[in-house]
Amino acid sequence: TITKAKDFRPGAGRGRFFALRTLPFCAVLLYNEKDDGLMCPFPSRWTEGQDKSKERRISMALRKIICIEDELLRKKSRPVEKFDEKLHRLLDDMAETMYNANGVGLAAPQVAVLRRVVVMDCGDGLIEMVNPEILETEGEQDGPEGCLSVPGRRGMVKRPMKVRAKFQDRNGEWYEIEAEELLARCIMHETDHLDGKLYVDIMSRELFDEDDGEETEE
Ligand code: ZN
Repeated sequence: TITKAKDFRPGAGRGRFFALRTLPFCAVLLYNEKDDGLMCPFPSRWTEGQDKSKERRISMALRKIICIEDELLRKKSRPVEKFDEKLHRLLDDMAETMYNANGVGLAAPQVAVLRRVVVMDCGDGLIEMVNPEILETEGEQDGPEGCLSVPGRRGMVKRPMKVRAKFQDRNGEWYEIEAEELLARCIMHETDHLDGKLYVDIMSRELFDEDDGEETEE
């Protein structure tokens, strides 16, 4: 569930909650005080119904994904303070780079930018998170994980089953998200990147070809 954090009032207003999409593991609800309309907090060319500008398409570029040997991946990323064109370009490039690599998530340090920015798409559209913070976790899930910065490897990793987090969008507006299963795993994996942590640090065992696990590259 994604809600606008500031003005969130469950049950308030004349049916001003809109189900955007419902998946078995992730129901997304959006709330827009301004025009009572369905609002997408993640404007991007991949978001349904959005086709913002040709200029953005042209300016998008693939960035190089750095690998586990690179010490930058072990550094702590700084919060974003300016929600400007440079950030928008970074977000656009990161999404492009993630989709190009068939990943479900990508954190800014993976493209050598030490800022607290992540993009994700677990099959329900692009999610951009700036300055994400985990507020609460619940339960446990054990499953296979991979990472675009650790090519050719995967491992079993225990993660919380549910995660509640807050984050800013590309314009600095705060939101809260409640996620389960794969999206919860993805949020944990990506926010770990922002603190210089990799899944290989916490995996219970490495998976090899003979294991028939499903891979998720983040
Ligand atoms: Zn990763």
